Amino acid sequence: MKVMAVNAGSSSLKFQLLDMPSEMVIVSGVVERIGLNDSIFTIKFGDKKNKEITSIPTHNVAVNMLLDKLLNLNILKSLDEIEGVGHRVVHGGEYFSDSVVITDEVVDAINKVSDLAPLHNPANLTGIKAFQEALPNIKAVAVFDTAFHQTMDQVTYMYSVPYEWYTKYGVRKYGFHGTSHKYVSLRAADMLNKKIEDTKVIICHIGNGASLCAVNGGKSIDTSMGFTPLSGIPMGTRSGDIDPAIVQFISQKENKNLDEVIDELNKKSGYLGLSGLSSDSRDLWEAVERGDKKSILAVEKQGKMIADYIGAYYLALGGCDAICFTAGIGENAGETRKLVADRLGALGVKLDFEKNLTRGEETVISTEDSKIKLLLIPTNEEVMIARDTVRLIK
Ligand code: AMP
Repeated sequence: MKVMAVNAGSSSLKFQLLDMPSEMVIVSGVVERIGLNDSIFTIKFGDKKNKEITSIPTHNVAVNMLLDKLLNLNILKSLDEIEGVGHRVVHGGEYFSDSVVITDEVVDAINKVSDLAPLHNPANLTGIKAFQEALPNIKAVAVFDTAFHQTMDQVTYMYSVPYEWYTKYGVRKYGFHGTSHKYVSLRAADMLNKKIEDTKVIICHIGNGASLCAVNGGKSIDTSMGFTPLSGIPMGTRSGDIDPAIVQFISQKENKNLDEVIDELNKKSGYLGLSGLSSDSRDLWEAVERGDKKSILAVEKQGKMIADYIGAYYLALGGCDAICFTAGIGENAGETRKLVADRLGALGVKLDFEKNLTRGEETVISTEDSKIKLLLIPTNEEVMIARDTVRLIK
């Protein structure tokens, strides 16, 4: 069975066609700069790559172009071979604690929570509609970034603010990266040779966006992102947790409105803000090599906050079998993994320096006598989307 996993952004469309249940990737690619004259369509299949720069005015045009290519490149004989389409949707609010087959009611609910994710949900819906129009008879499934965290208890997800903020406006912790946290926790159980129900793991998804998750028996019990993806640990350009009063203070000092200050916390903080150099971990580690003090501060601040969250989640879980590293930095930057591990000595964590040189491959990177295993696990959100699509359309 062939399933398409889709991640639609406001001007982009990422796709992967997978053979299920083998989970083999048949084609993958991305359409970028949708709506501009020089849109870029990239498709990879086998060891071939095809890139085209042309005007792709809408997501509908992008989807039709993709489907035409699948036929023209002889990847598919007929579009009927695609049996399901799975869409990443960022925010499911409190409506969705699992993936779901897309119906008109589901589209309404995704629309309703759009004010919680104004940049993402409308874009995700554009992708859903474009595929619905191009493939009207093929079932589609929505897979939510927030769904995995709906198992958090009320004490965890509520903020200590006027209760009406929650009842009137839905102000609470939702958490994100759920599809990745779920995938990695399943892989961790496999690597630990345990049933998922018997595992306690902490997942560090550290990419340009970054969040931690405490997973008990396969269920999320806490996560570091909150009402929005701005909270938690410092990221490429996001600040992570700060005292909210700073927003008002800077607004007055710099004569900026609240939107402008929040924008700086989202786009000019984190690695970029502290280093003044770059939001990219590779640039920062190069600068650290040269002894650049602000870059050292930026990576160490992140390392400390990751370790602080791990300490808190260790207590919340009542112990922990494994700490897992995933996403761009977690999978590739051994330097960041070491910074974190060095702060976890009190938990009996011991990093194996040789194994920590590994990049992007499932590996145990702790020593034999480490009290908690350290695991490097490349994430795979597309596979989770495809698995849920198959489960729900069957
Ligand atoms: P993601 O958002 O998961 O794609 O992660 C992006 C981040 O991963 C960027 O900060 C990249 O610099 C970082 N990254 C990717 N590859 C490497 C690498 N080989 N070494 C260090 N950082 C990397």
